This record gives sequence, C-alpha cells and structure tokens, in this order.
Amino acid sequence: MSDSKETPKTPEELLQEMQKIFKGGGGEGVTFSLAPNLQPDPERAPEDSGEDLEIPEAMLDFDRTPVEVKAYLDRFVIGQDEAKRTLAVAVCDHYNHVKRVLGKDPGAGSAAAGKLPASVPVSEYVKQNVILLGPTGVGKTYLIRILAQLIGVPFVKADVTKFSETGYVGGDVDDLVRELVRGADGNARIASHGIVFLDEIDKIASAQTPQGRDPSGRGVQVGLLKLMEETEVSLRNPMDIGALVQSMTQGGAQGPSTINTRHILFVVSGAFSGIEEVIEKRLSEHDIGFGASSQQEKDTQEGSILQDVSTRDFVEYGLEPEFIGRLPVRVALDELSDNDLYRILLTSEGSILKQYRQSFQDYGIDIAFEDSALQAVARRAADEKTGARGLMSVLESCLRNFKFNLPGTRIDKLAMTSGLVEDPEKTLQEVTKDPDAAATSYYLYTAREFEAEFARRHGVMLTLDDDAIQAAAGLSSEQKLPVKDCLWNIFSEQVDYLQKICEKAGRFELPVTPAILANPGSGAEVWLSGKTAAPTDD
Ligand code: ADP
Repeated sequence: MSDSKETPKTPEELLQEMQKIFKGGGGEGVTFSLAPNLQPDPERAPEDSGEDLEIPEAMLDFDRTPVEVKAYLDRFVIGQDEAKRTLAVAVCDHYNHVKRVLGKDPGAGSAAAGKLPASVPVSEYVKQNVILLGPTGVGKTYLIRILAQLIGVPFVKADVTKFSETGYVGGDVDDLVRELVRGADGNARIASHGIVFLDEIDKIASAQTPQGRDPSGRGVQVGLLKLMEETEVSLRNPMDIGALVQSMTQGGAQGPSTINTRHILFVVSGAFSGIEEVIEKRLSEHDIGFGASSQQEKDTQEGSILQDVSTRDFVEYGLEPEFIGRLPVRVALDELSDNDLYRILLTSEGSILKQYRQSFQDYGIDIAFEDSALQAVARRAADEKTGARGLMSVLESCLRNFKFNLPGTRIDKLAMTSGLVEDPEKTLQEVTKDPDAAATSYYLYTAREFEAEFARRHGVMLTLDDDAIQAAAGLSSEQKLPVKDCLWNIFSEQVDYLQKICEKAGRFELPVTPAILANPGSGAEVWLSGKTAAPTDD
C-alpha cells in the first residue's frame, strides 16, 4: 500500500481494494462495479464526450408514414389492427417531432447540452407516451420492440413492480434510463432517444387495497411522472460506490454526467384486470342520463369495451390523474383467438415455428408441419389463456421428447402431424420403429407447406399427387437440397405461365403429376383440356 502515495490508483485498482476491505469485514455479498457509462470501451478515446457523439442515423433518416410503419408491423404482429394503427401514428409523431427539434438544436438530447435555447418550444409539445392495456401474451411488448428496431433506437423493458417509492428496495426508476445507455453501448446521445417500456403498471395502481389507497404505488407513479415529463438523470448511479470512486478519480471530466429524458418515449402496459367493470359502470351511469342513444352505443362497444377506456376509468382504477395525464396515447389489445394463433404460427415473420425448425436442424433433423397439427396446437394454446406464449408451451410439450431422443439416431426427417399433437409418445415410438414411414410423411407435409406458400405468394394452388411427392423426394436426395428448395427451383420460374393457365382455365388449383414436375410446360394440355387454347398462343 505504500506506493499508493506516489502513484494515483486507477479506478479498477480502487475497486479491487474496496472489494477486499468489504470481504475482510464480512461483506462477502457486496460487489462493486463500474457504472455502465464508465466501463472501459476499447473503441472510444478517453476524451470522448457525449457532445461529439452522433445522433442515431436511422432516427434522423426516419421518414416513414404511419401506413408504412403499420405495414412493417403487419409482417410480425398478427391481429391487433387498431393498436398497430394508433402506435404507428404515435411513433411517427414522436420521432418527427424529435427530428424537428434536433434540426433546430442539434445539441439537444446530449446531456451536456441539457439546457435548451429559449427558442425551442418544448413545452408546447405533448409527448406521445403510450399506455397499452390487454391480457398477457397478446403482443404488447412485441409491438414496441419491433418499433424500436425499425426506428433504430435502444429499448429497455422492466416490470414496474421492482421499483420502490424511494428507490432502493429493488431499484430506482432512474435505473431505466441508465439501462438505456447500456443498451446504446454507453452512448448517452443515442440513449436519450430510446424507448422505455414498463410492464405491470396496473400493479402500482393505488386504489385496490381494502384499507384505502396504497401509498407506495403512488410514490412510484410520482417518480415516473418526472421521468416521463422531463428531467436530468445522473448517469452515475448514486448507489454504485465503484462508479462514484471512479468519477472522483477522473474529476468528473469523462463524458456527460446526466441524460435528459425529454425525448425518451415511455410506454407503460398492464392487464388492468377488472377495468372492464369500471368502464361498464361509467357507461351505465351515462346511460341513465342519455338513455335514448345508449343501446346503440352498447352494441357498437360489444366485445371491445377496453377500446372505450377513459382517463376517469384509469383514475378510478387507482392511477394518479397527473400520471395518466402524461400518457395520452391509449391502446387496448385484444385477446388472440384460435385463428389468430394459427396465423401467428403460419405467417408471422417472428413465428416460433422457425425457432423449432432451426433447433431440429441443429441436430441434422428436418421437420415439416401438417396444417391440421398447427390448427390443433393453436386450439390448445388458446385454451391456456396466455396468448401467443401458449404456442411455445404446447409445442414444447409435444416435441420435447423428440428433441431428446432423435438427435444422434439415423432419423433425419420428422413430420409433426395431428397424431403427434394428440399423442406424442405413441408417435415417437412409431417414428423410431419405422423411420422410412416418418420420412414419407415428412415429404408429404413439406410438399403441402410448399403448396400453401406458393398459393399465398402467387395465387396458384399446385397440388402434388403421391407420385409427384415421391419424385420430388428423389430430386431432393439427388440434388442434396431440401425438397422445398427443389420445388421452388422448378416452379418459381413458371409463375407467369401458371397464372395465365389459371386465368384461362378459370381455376385456381393445378394438379401436378411426376411428368409435370419433370416438365411443367407439359401441364398446359392437361390443365386446359376441354378449354380452347394454351396460354402460349397469346
Ligand atoms: P405481452 O402482451 O404480455 O407483452 P408479448 O408481446 O411479450 O406479450 O408476447 C410474447 C411473444 O408472443 C412475442 O415475443 C411474440 O413472439 C408472440 N406474440 C404475441 N402476440 C403476438 C401477435 N399478435 N402476433 C405475433 N406474435 C405475437
């Protein structure tokens, strides 16, 4: 320790020493760490400060219309049309506003440039913070995560229940903002345009206790209120002694020390179970006063009473008026039906099926899904009442033992049939006993998947007969390509021709034999038999 007088210690050395002291004193569980913004970054020169950091390019380039944003969401999120529309508008408004303000004041958003010039009319703008309500697993987080990806801004999610009124029982609401900085690799400038997502917000509603209002929930709401509006958050967590030591040793000269929350978009969400009754009660009071129009109103509200939620209902539920007042965009998400869940499996770009296909492929096993099996999975998942999360648990329970038993065996093809969904154990035994039969069903359902995809994309329903499927399987092993790829290779160049045939023949479905598979041009004669002319005569 004697040399410490001559040579100043680095923050890392100081941390190590403090850790030792605490251990010696019985504080084994205590750890110190460098605050995220102070973590050494090999890419960044030590004198870098937030002022020099770039505004995220994707955000400055953000010029999408709400219709385009909704179309992007449609690729991933099934159903929830109203929510997608409302969020698309809110997000476009928010980031257009941020872009405009940054255009006027390119330093705004950097903590160092925290004070705005008087000319920037921030107070006139009401931030488009969002409150989402709806049951679990229906896409609340998913929607916001995809939006953040699209805009290219960092995103953090936390359950509000982990925060206490005064900070440190579980955490401090300011941690969320520091977490954003971490998500932006320490770049405070980028973080100051990120999205903070707080789940379980209904749990801090303060009206539910029989003893009256629960004061701790109210305290957290007040803490969040400041964040949602505009405040400077210290990037150095006051409870992180390591970070404080480091900032002292650096004389506070290292980058911005605070981050302004003015441009951070806040999204809160919760199930708000029971709020329907609150809404109904208010509507029925309204009915008494306005009896004549009430029945018609009620009819249009049928099935979507949450869409009608008002500030008063949230206040009645236990949210503070000032708090709910900072959340002007209200979005109710619907329960997902069997059919929605089926469409999620089949058409969402984020479908869990892709993950399953990949995890089997990692063991060299190709898996195909029978359409009626997917419908059965969707039906079972709907019964679980956990939204799309149910899909994961149903698939897991169906396929778990296949994933355990098949890797390392000679079985490299598997079909998930409705029989498998009904009785996975029995199917596992059958597959193990007769791998060739399993491969035959695999080819059948892969061909069916191809047909459905082709029909969706090109409006032509090719239907391969058993012999054609057999021939496709032969091509697949000859060409060492998945059978679906072989089929796409054959038919994707024939789209125009096939569409013309359908038009001429007045039919949507074109049966495929082995001869047609070998030479699709030969199909015209068969498909148009009884009709006047082949399409090539045009
Ligand atoms: P919550 O509504 O509880 O926030 P999530 O958005 O986290 O639920 O949904 C869990 C997962 O389920 C998502 O990651 C996504 O894969 C899937 N999912 C949920 N809703 C939908 C939907 N409407 N469309 C497509 N996938 C969905």
